[in-house]
Amino acid sequence: MTWHENLEDFGKKLEPGSTFRFECHPKLTCFGMCCSTEITLTPYDIARMRRHLNIDTGEFLSTYCKVYTDPRTGFPFVVLKHKEDGKCVFLGNHGCSLYESRPSCCRNYPLARVIDDDDNSDKRLTIYYLQQEATYCEGLGRGSDRTVGGYCEMNGLIPYEKANDLFLDIPFAYQRLSHSVRHDSEVQSMVFEAVFNFDSFFAKYGRFNHVSAPKDDHEMIVLVRSIALNLIKKSARLKLGEQTVNSEIIRDS
Ligand code: SF4
Ligand code: SF4
Repeated sequence: MTWHENLEDFGKKLEPGSTFRFECHPKLTCFGMCCSTEITLTPYDIARMRRHLNIDTGEFLSTYCKVYTDPRTGFPFVVLKHKEDGKCVFLGNHGCSLYESRPSCCRNYPLARVIDDDDNSDKRLTIYYLQQEATYCEGLGRGSDRTVGGYCEMNGLIPYEKANDLFLDIPFAYQRLSHSVRHDSEVQSMVFEAVFNFDSFFAKYGRFNHVSAPKDDHEMIVLVRSIALNLIKKSARLKLGEQTVNSEIIRDS
């Protein structure tokens, strides 16, 4: 299985130690043009953005997001809505209105971070690509040489990568379920609530199990991962419902 944070076409593969040139600033005539692409969100992205906006995940998802199901795997995914002009719902007159909390794939651009199984071991491979297909992007090839590590650090990606790598265990585990379970609407709905709408999930089920939602966003993803993996493990044999979630899913996580 391959997981990437935004694109179907990854671009040019960057070998370890290689450099690229990129520079972005508001004076470029292309400023904001890139904010019309599809932005896929991870649970950590959602945690950070909803905190920035001081709302819960339910309000964040219903106001700013669209939810799809991957037809191949049955796993739900979340993307940002666009405005009528085709631009991201968070693009304002002066750029991104929640720049400090912008999601992983916006921070990564023009890099694409792709996670893949290593055929020779249980490990996963992290591969970076340089996206070059946006001909309007004046930042590509501009400025001084950058390394992948330096670019990721500069864009505050270290906590995002840690949390996103934890999250990736969930879709990888989900794909190992049988086709009929993966595509069961009740299973999909429960997994979506636990993984992406975690504030509502905890408000609904946490009180039965004396589990309170962590205040720290990384700790939240640690708990979301634990609950989701338990839910996936048991969804193959349990009839899901409130009683099941109450007694089986959270308690064992
Ligand atoms: S340089 Fe590229 S990333 Fe920066 S605003 Fe222009 S299109 Fe977007
Ligand atoms: S979240 Fe911000 S940076 Fe990302 S596409 Fe939307 S406006 Fe642009």
